Amino acid sequence: MAQTMKVRKGDVVHILRGKDAGKEGRVLEALPKQGRVVVENINVVKRHRRPRPIQNTTGLGGGGMTPGGIIDLPAPLPVSNVMVVCPVCGKPTRVGTIEKTVRDRKVRVRVCKKCGEEMDRG
Ligand SMILES: [Zn+2]
Repeated sequence: MAQTMKVRKGDVVHILRGKDAGKEGRVLEALPKQGRVVVENINVVKRHRRPRPIQNTTGLGGGGMTPGGIIDLPAPLPVSNVMVVCPVCGKPTRVGTIEKTVRDRKVRVRVCKKCGEEMDRG
């Protein structure tokens, strides 16, 4: 059974471990299969990129070179290294889920373990 991730794209998370411990950032991408998240400005690695010809996929000629240089890229970090910051109380917290019925449909809603409020609005 796949582990469900409590962290979702758009969440603000608090970094617990690693070189960016103590910082906060917004989740750009959640990777449930890897159990990892990509967080804005966190765990940034510099990638060196060489200029190279752009692959011509259209067959219409043209083409050019991609710019070379160094780019900053946030690398995925294990979800266990982050804690979701509750949008209601503003504190890093563990996330629980409750089941509730909305228009005769059962939905799972994330709740803050600190203040008990629902974290998913709308
Ligand atoms: Zn809260």
